Amino acid sequence: MSDTPFYGPDFDLLSKQDPDIAEILLSELHRQQSDLQLIASENFTSRAVLAALGSTLSNKYAEGYAGKRYYGGCEEVDKAEILAIDRAKSLFGAEHANVQPHSGASANIAVYAAFTKPGDTVLAMSLPHGGHLTHGSKVNFSGKWFNVVSYGVRQSDELIDYDELRDLAIANKPKMICSGATAYPSLIDFEKVRAICDEVGAIMWVDAAHFIGLVAGKAIPSPVPYADVVSFTTHKVLRGPRGGMILSKAAHAAAIDKAVFPGMQGGPIMSAVAGKAVALKECAQPSYQKYALDVISNCQELAKGLENEGMRAVSGGTQTHLALIDIRSTNVNGKVADQRCGLAGIVLNKNAIPFDPESPAVTSGIRVGSAATTTQGLGKAEMHVIASFIARAIATEAEGELSQIKKEVHALTSRFPIYAA
Ligand SMILES: *Cc1c(COP(=O)(O)O)cnc(C)c1O
Repeated sequence: MSDTPFYGPDFDLLSKQDPDIAEILLSELHRQQSDLQLIASENFTSRAVLAALGSTLSNKYAEGYAGKRYYGGCEEVDKAEILAIDRAKSLFGAEHANVQPHSGASANIAVYAAFTKPGDTVLAMSLPHGGHLTHGSKVNFSGKWFNVVSYGVRQSDELIDYDELRDLAIANKPKMICSGATAYPSLIDFEKVRAICDEVGAIMWVDAAHFIGLVAGKAIPSPVPYADVVSFTTHKVLRGPRGGMILSKAAHAAAIDKAVFPGMQGGPIMSAVAGKAVALKECAQPSYQKYALDVISNCQELAKGLENEGMRAVSGGTQTHLALIDIRSTNVNGKVADQRCGLAGIVLNKNAIPFDPESPAVTSGIRVGSAATTTQGLGKAEMHVIASFIARAIATEAEGELSQIKKEVHALTSRFPIYAA
């Protein structure tokens, strides 16, 4: 591993002009290189994506859409946005794409704005069962401005209860039904959700933030043929820049575009839009399709490894890039497990499990993902090594043992260097 970050000359310049920030960038790069990154929503982008992000496109104001901008001088950024849109439509087989949302949450605000009015009823996955803040949390705009009714998973198998979903839809007549979550390890039956939406006349919205990368890699079924609208982030398994995107049927194109701008955003971040185009091109390559399959098999292996260590994978395992692990058998809660793993150089998060007896600040579980480590080149054998690291870290409060595990973690990651010079 080199001490010089791969973006060399600019970094030298930054080091001279602002050594305080340069030092932080360098330390963060080393942290990403040396610790195990198991946060299910994180990944390592390509250098090409970072190059687009760090470009002069950041300087350009481009309120509006290609050919209909509110500012002059948009000829070049227009081309970047058109490329991003065309690549998104072709990769996902979508009729319409809006590539401007600054984030997943911003994309979701636009979806609400396009299809609902404040006070309307929306059906979405319950937060304690894996839903996102924007799916009706009381501290989020969604829960403050909308009447969000929640559905969850069945206690017996921890899978979405489509019968409950249908009953709630019939009883509450929602304007829109959201499927998608941040901590649901299984696949969603989009055909069933479509049928329920049709039965009650609701808009079918899929928040695909977590799993859209697996769809892009053709490793799991796509929601695009079924949904009216699909929103997602571009920085999770998809491996692009931080940002959001919305796909929809052509009939909703105008509503979506108006909701994004001028509805809830000003100028798009054109460097990020270019970064999205770069990532979408990467996702269309056969190597990315192999990556998506490897992400799933690695996560399945990691979940198996943790089960071999006596923990329990929620819903019996995973069909995606993330696994939710019930760690009650260790007699350590999620919060403490998260802290101990952190001291051992293993970055993951505590996470509520369905019907969790602990509070959301404590939890009985951890969430692990394989998107970043798979990008790094780790395989099935390493997933079992990681599982044993996690089990050892959770089982000890001894600082000596935790720093010993950290040494072993760093020995492992040094064999799989990312952003090496
Ligand atoms: C990550 C995520 C979001 C929010 O994305 P941000 O870019 O953090 O705003 C929204 N919905 C789901 C399901 C997510 O997993």
